[in-house]
Amino acid sequence: MKPVPPSQPEIGILPVREASIVEVGKAEGGIACNKHSAAGSVSQRACVFCGSRVVLYPIADALHLVHGPIGCAAYTWDIRGALSSGPQIHRNSFSTDLQELDVIYGGEKKLYHALVELIEMYKPNAAFVYSTCIVGVIGDDVNAVCKRVAAEKGIPVLPVNSEGFKGTKKDGYRAACEAVYKLVGTGSTDDIPPHSINILGDFNLAGETWIIKEYYKRIGVNVVSCITGDARVEDIRHAHGAHLNLVQCSGSMAHLAKMMERDYQIPIKRVSYFGIEDMSAALYETAKFFSDDPTIMERAQELVREEVATIYPQLRAYREKLQGKKAAIYVGGAFKAFSLVRALKMLGMTTAVVGSQTGGPEDYKQLQEMCDPGTIIVDDTNPLELAKFCLEKDVDLLIGGVKERPIAYKMGIGFCDHNHERKEPLAGFIGMANFAREVYSSVASPVWQFAPRRAAKLKAAAAQLNGGKA
Ligand code: SF4
Repeated sequence: MKPVPPSQPEIGILPVREASIVEVGKAEGGIACNKHSAAGSVSQRACVFCGSRVVLYPIADALHLVHGPIGCAAYTWDIRGALSSGPQIHRNSFSTDLQELDVIYGGEKKLYHALVELIEMYKPNAAFVYSTCIVGVIGDDVNAVCKRVAAEKGIPVLPVNSEGFKGTKKDGYRAACEAVYKLVGTGSTDDIPPHSINILGDFNLAGETWIIKEYYKRIGVNVVSCITGDARVEDIRHAHGAHLNLVQCSGSMAHLAKMMERDYQIPIKRVSYFGIEDMSAALYETAKFFSDDPTIMERAQELVREEVATIYPQLRAYREKLQGKKAAIYVGGAFKAFSLVRALKMLGMTTAVVGSQTGGPEDYKQLQEMCDPGTIIVDDTNPLELAKFCLEKDVDLLIGGVKERPIAYKMGIGFCDHNHERKEPLAGFIGMANFAREVYSSVASPVWQFAPRRAAKLKAAAAQLNGGKA
């Protein structure tokens, strides 16, 4: 007897989540976002502490100490793809490893001794101390301990008020900005040349900051600091001497940019380095800003011409193979989603599902405007919803991060890692070529024919070709 394939059970949506999902062309008005995750929904979104940690992690010559139970300190050696051209202290994950007795009697002493020991051992240029949920519950005076150690050791010891329960990942970004801002303005700006920028919101994943910095160097623009890709404490101290802040991951760095605009009158431009269109626009926007030197624009145009001519033949070849394929996107910030929708279009693909962990009303409005009718747009989703939409839209690819990867593979769908764990640079022109290759390799992999869902489809198609015979 032939085995009967299990029927696909319909996946429902929690009523409390319905307002956070819209279908382009069917829904009027906006989407519910910028709010705490629904209890019981098992959100894909990370906690406040995680938001802070991810933003500050690439400051490579700083000590990062997680004050809390060991479980919070899951950022171990090499779990993130942020590279450093020098010190490697950031790749360690130090924790005060709070236990039951610390919860009862307080963890301040333990924090003090951990800080002193680690600073003596690793000689960092600054230390960040992350508060986790339990620290918020027991009420350790982290600020006082940091102040004491800073005075004793002569380096900035910066508390990050990132208790996991107190908001969303976005609040963690804010706490990180508040902490790192204490360094800005503490260095001299005497030697900073006139056409200088800060790159905010690029984390040097797989060396992406180096690619972008090289482009800026080629067009004659000086980078004062990158916050926080391949960052050094000393560079951040001088960041207030730049003349323009280019903000990529706006969710994480908008707050820092706004504080610098308020206190140092540094204008802000929102950019993205993903995809040909957005990468070119970032260079042109910068060149326009420094219009007192028209050679910057000339060099930017020349650079774009050269780089596009190099990668275009490869993109055309992939486009032929990917034409008509469908993708789902679920990423941290909505701005990255915009770039991905455009980049997929360039590869001949459509976006059937798109969502983010931290998008705001304006971001989702823009997504609704740029996506085709029928596209599902979702804020702060969960694994079941993602699976439901991917199956219903029959996508060929899911673009996401470490938490989305198993969802894709369990459904027999190709996956592209566009998050902080990746080892392949996807920014810049070279990054677009890498992205196209990765998308093609995953979507066209022969392995999917063995996934039960695909196998049934292929069998039906073969039967049709065979004149209805199985
Ligand atoms: S800070 Fe809280 S929510 Fe975040 S990992 Fe630690 S215990 Fe979990």
